[in-house]
Amino acid sequence: MVENLPVAVIGAGPVGLAAAAHLLERGLDPMIFESGTSAGAAIDQWRHIRLFSPWRFNLDAAAVRLLEPTGWEPPRLTALPYGGELVDNYLAPLAAIPAIASRLQTGARVLAVTRRGLDKTQGRKRDTTPFVVRVQDTAGEVRDVTVSAVIDASGTWSRPNPLGTSGLPAIGEDGAADRISSSLPDVSGRDRHSFAGGRVLVVGAGHSAANTLINLAELAKEEPGTRILWAVRGGSAEKTYGGGDADGLPARGQLGSRLRRLVEAGTIELHTDFSISSLADSEHGVTVTSGDGRALVADVVVPCTGFRPDLDMLRELRLDLDPAVEAPTELGPLIDPEFHSCGTVPPHGARVLAHTEKDFYIVGMKSYGRAPTFLLATGYEQVRSVAAALAGDRAAADTVHLELPETGVCSSDAGTSCDVPAVALASAEDDSSSCCSAPEPVLIGIPTGLAHGRSGV
Ligand SMILES: Cc1cc2nc3c(=O)[nH]c(=O)nc-3n(C[C@H](O)[C@H](O)[C@H](O)COP(=O)(O)OP(=O)(O)OC[C@H]3O[C@@H](n4cnc5c(N)ncnc54)[C@H](O)[C@@H]3O)c2cc1C
Repeated sequence: MVENLPVAVIGAGPVGLAAAAHLLERGLDPMIFESGTSAGAAIDQWRHIRLFSPWRFNLDAAAVRLLEPTGWEPPRLTALPYGGELVDNYLAPLAAIPAIASRLQTGARVLAVTRRGLDKTQGRKRDTTPFVVRVQDTAGEVRDVTVSAVIDASGTWSRPNPLGTSGLPAIGEDGAADRISSSLPDVSGRDRHSFAGGRVLVVGAGHSAANTLINLAELAKEEPGTRILWAVRGGSAEKTYGGGDADGLPARGQLGSRLRRLVEAGTIELHTDFSISSLADSEHGVTVTSGDGRALVADVVVPCTGFRPDLDMLRELRLDLDPAVEAPTELGPLIDPEFHSCGTVPPHGARVLAHTEKDFYIVGMKSYGRAPTFLLATGYEQVRSVAAALAGDRAAADTVHLELPETGVCSSDAGTSCDVPAVALASAEDDSSSCCSAPEPVLIGIPTGLAHGRSGV
């Protein structure tokens, strides 16, 4: 790594800020670029949604070490925070600590990353050439910043999957954009006016869809004209219902059970095997048509179809990505939603996340590419290891630990299953290879959105 230059961290979400905390502990100088107006800007969009993992798993150890001397009051570790609480009670205080605040640039969108003076085809002295990060501020001004290494923690929130099948927008989807909401609207609060009394079509089978549907049912109690339609690509909604009241995670089970009851009571009209082929907007609403010719008419469509990473800004870098999942090559097969419904993942760090492009790492939600089962605890261990690697502490980088929330059974779509106690785990990175090999942490794995083109709607 080129010395005496800062390390760029793209994104001031929980994982980007944790990366900064670990870099500081290692004596490195993070420079954090955040496109939003404040830290946690993506989570702020879903502040009304409750996390399904308790506080204990949502805090990074190095971040807590920075916070503690400031008189910060730690939350009750067993409580499940709302997204807004994660921002207000953890990310905002962390971002306000002078060591972070002085290195955090908000309203700073990273447009591209490259090597100074080298395009992607030029290999000579690449490893010893600094990176250039191209940044745009809110006034549209663009500048280039030279850095020694880059940690991309920019998440996937800004790139929802399209509604259409085949990974492409459905015919007419772009033209119907005004009828399509954000991925997790606050239907009974901030965004209520767009949904009250209307016909709302929710598309998707993950945690986001479940939350939105339940909140819409609450809205419908107060606004009786509200009609709730739910389209899933699969033959049933069983995956979304989860383990019901017997679920190893009570919060997840309760969500699934409530949803099932609302569907059975007819409050929510479920349409299965519904793969969207076209949308047609008119003054009467948007007509959403499935591949087999069924049509649903709605005033607004809520896309809960998962997310994908923005790889455009990394085009000049030499990346190693799994061709299906768009996660780092070694990580991809371990989290591929086609084979791992639970999202189980062995502890992993810098070695698994490395690319041909030396000193460049994708971490956090974005490191999972199109897989929907990322957990913060996984990301915090990723950045601990990456900071150690950048500091030259290979032993610390390669000794990866992970403790994930307690859960019950992890099953893979391939038909295998594993029932693993949630214990503190430590493993060398090359120890693990498959879903059920030991040592293996279990994650709680209700997808936050299912990849539209794969195992989701
Ligand atoms: C509804 C929902 C519920 C979830 N619940 C849980 C849970 O219970 N437990 C759990 O462990 N995980 C949960 N997750 C998954 C995951 O932990 C979160 O998505 C988390 O926010 C990921 O953190 P991150 O830092 O990787 O990305 P983000 O939080 O998305 O942060 C990325 C940041 O980068 C910024 N950014 C984006 N592009 C750029 C750019 N080009 N330049 C500069 N800045 C940029 C964004 O504004 C954002 O602030 C949930 C996710 C969702 C969507």
